[in-house]
Amino acid sequence: MSYDVDFLVLGAGSAGVRASRIAAMLGAKVAVVEERYLGGTCVNVGCVPKKLMVYGAHFADELEEARGYGWEVEGVRHNWQTLKTNRDNEVKRLNGIYQRLLESKGVRIVRGRGVLADPHTVVVHDVDGNEERITAKHILIATGGVPVRPTIAGAEHVLISDQIFRLEERPQRLVVIGAGYIGVEFAGVFKAFGSDVTLVHRGEQILKGFDIDVREHLAAQYEHKGIHLRLSSEVKAVDKNADGSLSCHVVHRDGDVETIQADAVLLAIGRHPHTNGLGLEAAGVKVDERDAIVVDDDFQTSVPSITACGDVINRIQLTPVALNEGMVVARRLFGGPVTTIGYDAVPSAVFSSPPIGAVGLSEDDARAAGHAVEIYRSVFRPMKLTMTDRQEKSLMKIVVDKSTRRVLGMFVVGQDAGEIIQGFAVAVKMGVTKEQLDSTIGIHPTAAEELVTMREPVAEPDADEVRRRTAPAPGEL
Ligand code: FAD
Repeated sequence: MSYDVDFLVLGAGSAGVRASRIAAMLGAKVAVVEERYLGGTCVNVGCVPKKLMVYGAHFADELEEARGYGWEVEGVRHNWQTLKTNRDNEVKRLNGIYQRLLESKGVRIVRGRGVLADPHTVVVHDVDGNEERITAKHILIATGGVPVRPTIAGAEHVLISDQIFRLEERPQRLVVIGAGYIGVEFAGVFKAFGSDVTLVHRGEQILKGFDIDVREHLAAQYEHKGIHLRLSSEVKAVDKNADGSLSCHVVHRDGDVETIQADAVLLAIGRHPHTNGLGLEAAGVKVDERDAIVVDDDFQTSVPSITACGDVINRIQLTPVALNEGMVVARRLFGGPVTTIGYDAVPSAVFSSPPIGAVGLSEDDARAAGHAVEIYRSVFRPMKLTMTDRQEKSLMKIVVDKSTRRVLGMFVVGQDAGEIIQGFAVAVKMGVTKEQLDSTIGIHPTAAEELVTMREPVAEPDADEVRRRTAPAPGEL
């Protein structure tokens, strides 16, 4: 049987672009279908524009720090439009790079929404209402995820993260609903630019899934910065007032009700696999109870000709994971070196203020997995801040298996945390022991040297403390 292409990729995001490019380099005839933008979420409404805003926000702290070093920085103001224009231009530049990257490898870019018609056919609907049927020997579904939409009254007044990048003006008062990494990051960014920020979260602590010390430490830093935390609390409704502002009705766990006035409300309660309306039933592709496409270790779906990877399979929703999965799929199908993905010790960062870098098991996950652990923890004021009025504290933590001495997890909350943890992640992945860390000479004076100089484990938490940490909070069930 002959097909129009060897490989048809649905979605030109992190996973789809990487898979298309590698497949084409391995000699396959490839088409990639994209309905919105080249580069997907990461480049257009995710990691990249967000990180550019984080960089911009950091100057607020740095300008304050500069005073302690003798710089006279009075009268400095921030121009939101400049930030927006420069950021949007950078995203456009990256879109062009993605286009050239694909076209230079001979990949055909098909603009429109692709829908599966059968195991080897995709129908593409473009914006002008035209339809094109493309047949393929292999199809990859890499359609990513979409923000979860609210079901609360007044949901139409609430922004999702995609829309936050379109704001023409910075809201003076911002309510962020949800304290996963996206909510926490935007809360930090808008606070730094001068907004009055309230973070409302139904769980008992921010950043579910991260190490408990990291969560508590960042929450304390945020409160110290003046970000209002409303934990164990839920937004029940949002009303629009006559002057265009919003009233956010929040119910706390004790039953108290609070109305918070805001100029914008951002909803960041998670992302959902983008599987709706893809024609999965027509092709026979199975999804799980969370609508994620079910795949095996080779990213094979329930249909032999169809693979899926990236956020749409809902494993770890991070760009580098999606990129690697895309590469594995292309190589497996078109004869490249066969590789697999190790989902253990995937490092990650939260670009909060201060940022977090994390790799490996949290203390509680390590205990839950049956490890007897030794904990090393250090909280300190970074040297850079000692000549300034800023009171921010850094946290570093190492989780060690008591019997094997293997380092199970490493965590940093402090400046450059992501940069620091990226390097240590290699060591953790390779099975570094605490003694090997100890035998590494530090670089002085740096913050990172703390990770190779922590000698004394902290006292074991008592049984009540372990219970407190491991019991799921009611809002987190
Ligand atoms: P996507 O990048 O979402 O790509 C899917 C593509 O498919 C999209 O372009 C979409 O338009 C297209 N598509 C969907 N359906 C169809 C269809 N039927 N036909 C044609 N095209 C279709 N990750 C990090 O690692 N670090 C970060 O700092 C980070 N920050 C983030 C910040 C935000 C605000 C968000 C929302 C995400 C962030 N992420 C971050 C996550 C990261 O963006 C995703 O994990 C990554 O983009 C997943 O890649 P993907 O290829 O699976 O999907």
